[in-house]
Amino acid sequence: MKKLEQLYEGKAKKVFRTDDPELLIVSYKDDATAFNGLKKGTIVGKGVINNRMSNLLMKRLEASGIPTHFVEELNDRETLVKKVSIVPLEVIIRNIAAGSFSKRYGVEEGVAFDFPTIEFSYKNDALGDPLLNEYHARALRLASADEIETIKRYAFGVNEELKAFWKECGVTLVDFKLEFGRLSDGSIVLADEISPDTCRLWDSKTGEKLDKDRFRRDLGGVEDAYAEIMKRLTTHI
Ligand code: ADP
Ligand code: UDP
Repeated sequence: MKKLEQLYEGKAKKVFRTDDPELLIVSYKDDATAFNGLKKGTIVGKGVINNRMSNLLMKRLEASGIPTHFVEELNDRETLVKKVSIVPLEVIIRNIAAGSFSKRYGVEEGVAFDFPTIEFSYKNDALGDPLLNEYHARALRLASADEIETIKRYAFGVNEELKAFWKECGVTLVDFKLEFGRLSDGSIVLADEISPDTCRLWDSKTGEKLDKDRFRRDLGGVEDAYAEIMKRLTTHI
């Protein structure tokens, strides 16, 4: 597989074309951003951890019947993935109140829900990724009704699988963001990444944050938290 020119550089990854029109190479960076790019920094070693973790989790999800873009890990920062046309929705599942949910609805962080929730934001940096509902997504022609049903089914499936896995690692899966895309045949697969950048992961006993909130909120120990969560994962997967 030949790595050809860079197609895109995002906030956390670079995307390259390959000699196969159906495949791309993603390369994970150590760059970290928060608050729609207003806060910028570096988390040393993050790219290596996120690449590895995302691939291990996607392999596990594939095994449980959820299709993903994952093809093959090429090296410590680069992965071969199926090229998709990204559905411009950020799909957020929550098990416990935190972050923007707590702020928006005035609920203390840490309050557990009776059942998981789902919400969508319009993946559009210029608009600041505004929250929208399924009707809005359909009105904007971001996805069809069938696609939204599939996305919801997969997203809740990911939650059940990952919640159980992280529990074995002594970690509580608080919330996370997923992105889905369409393959050339139109079928929906899980794309992008699943990592401490895109999930809230709390130590089950102490409640210690082992995710990007340490960076967002200047809590310190960012690199140590990424290393710790990776260690938990590799000893249990
Ligand atoms: P952002 O664009 O938000 O800054 P990243 O730095 O993570 O995010 O860039 C990676 C980009 O690649 C994202 O826009 C993401 O939607 C897109 N992407 C992820 N997986 C795939 C895929 N399999 N095919 C095409 N694009 C993808
Ligand atoms: N999230 C993400 N990318 C975003 C927004 C959110 O990966 O652009 C993740 C975030 O890491 C958390 C979950 O989605 O695990 C819910 O985030 P929330 O809506 O609470 O937003 P935040 O508090 O991060 O602004």
